Amino acid sequence: MRKYIVAGNWKMNTTVPEGVALAKAVVEKAKDIPANVELVVAPPFTHLASVAEALKGSKVALCAQNCADNEKGAYTGEIAVNMLTSVGCQYTILGHSERRQYYGETDEKLVVKTKLALEAGLKVILCVGENLDERKAGKHFEVVTSQTKNVLYNFNEEDLKNIVIAYEPVWAIGTGETATAAQAQEIHACIRSVIAEKFGITAADDMTILYGGSCKPSNAGELFAQKDVDGGLIGGAALKAEDFIAIATSF
Ligand code: PEP
Repeated sequence: MRKYIVAGNWKMNTTVPEGVALAKAVVEKAKDIPANVELVVAPPFTHLASVAEALKGSKVALCAQNCADNEKGAYTGEIAVNMLTSVGCQYTILGHSERRQYYGETDEKLVVKTKLALEAGLKVILCVGENLDERKAGKHFEVVTSQTKNVLYNFNEEDLKNIVIAYEPVWAIGTGETATAAQAQEIHACIRSVIAEKFGITAADDMTILYGGSCKPSNAGELFAQKDVDGGLIGGAALKAEDFIAIATSF
């Protein structure tokens, strides 16, 4: 059964007290969310333990924004998967375009990180998406297909149950420019067919594929109405509990 998810990526925003207040506001408003929609919040690492407390007893899941590509040891500044599970994380985002662009995240590294995350019992929100030049050159299907294959094809059908794909066209992230519902739908359908090719129709049908890129209350309804769009990975609009919840009630 396909799951609908709205996940908030807080990126490098909010102090710990601000983050806790935001989490509490989300929990308070989450009561209005339909039962078939899962809410996920991804605060910075420093916030995770305190936000976990704020989420206790709610249906809102805790998510990290990244994890290390090693289990433990001399990797200054890195955060291991068992550290994330030990503070109550259920998910981690991996391969966000900002990590690919600014921190040299490669598909090869993402395979390693995804393996570690799944072994630790974390679910993975794996981001894929083309940049503006690739879109202009008409290479968006090719780019997204290869990013999806390069990571997912290293896993099996059982693993796929704990992986969510987020299609995030880089040109739409934080720019105010959103992919049209039709643009999102055609890429989501493409991702689903890439999954079906290797893992079969059932696995592809069950896969949750989120859209991300300037998604807000005013456009979420149209995007989520597409048959292959199963929710959103939300950046800017996730920093306001009302907007985040309004997005989650847009299905
Ligand atoms: C994101 O970075 O995951 C994102 C979708 O950001 P925004 O909603 O701000 O475009």
